[in-house]
Amino acid sequence: MTDAKGTAARMEMAKKKVLKHIKVDLDKCIGCRACEMACSAFHARPRFSSTNPARSRIRVVIDEKNDMYVPIRAGDYTPAECTGRHKYTINGKEYNECSFCGVSCPSRDYFLEPDSGLPLKCDMCEEDPTLEEPWCVQVCRCDCLTFAEEEDDREDQPEKRDEMEIGLESLILKHGLDKVLDMVARMSSKG
Ligand code: SF4
Ligand code: SF4
Ligand code: SF4
Repeated sequence: MTDAKGTAARMEMAKKKVLKHIKVDLDKCIGCRACEMACSAFHARPRFSSTNPARSRIRVVIDEKNDMYVPIRAGDYTPAECTGRHKYTINGKEYNECSFCGVSCPSRDYFLEPDSGLPLKCDMCEEDPTLEEPWCVQVCRCDCLTFAEEEDDREDQPEKRDEMEIGLESLILKHGLDKVLDMVARMSSKG
């Protein structure tokens, strides 16, 4: 391969997105909540300065009907509960409609930063240099959580929205644009 062709191939590889997954084996979860503690500590500022499961981007939901622990990671934010929810039946047992849902929504107090009320979202512990495995996976001693990566072959991916944009949108939906603009003006006048 010529140098120019080699460079083009490397650039093509670098352009390909890697999809990161955390696989969950519900049979192995013992509900120890180590994943919640680790996630909140990793996202504390300064890092690892505190632990508070309420700030975690993974929460262990207890499915009361089935006496089962369901670790779920925070996904997208929505201002309203969904309608027409799913009911799951697995091995003859029926599961609560929200048991497997990672959406940050008003149906429960999960995935909302307790002080600011801003939605939290799992960021796969992304930092530079990249962690070998996200923290929740590293601390899960029961192998309930396992990490996997694969190349994303899908084309025309929608642009990813960052945490600040999602947070601002949630504040505007909750309080209205005028109030948020007033607040920003007040804060900037304080310097
Ligand atoms: S650390 Fe693992 S076993 Fe413990 S609650 Fe989290 S997922 Fe379950
Ligand atoms: S948590 Fe429940 S109500 Fe909210 S979006 Fe998910 S399934 Fe719907
Ligand atoms: S991958 Fe990282 S950010 Fe996501 S839930 Fe696990 S510890 Fe939290």
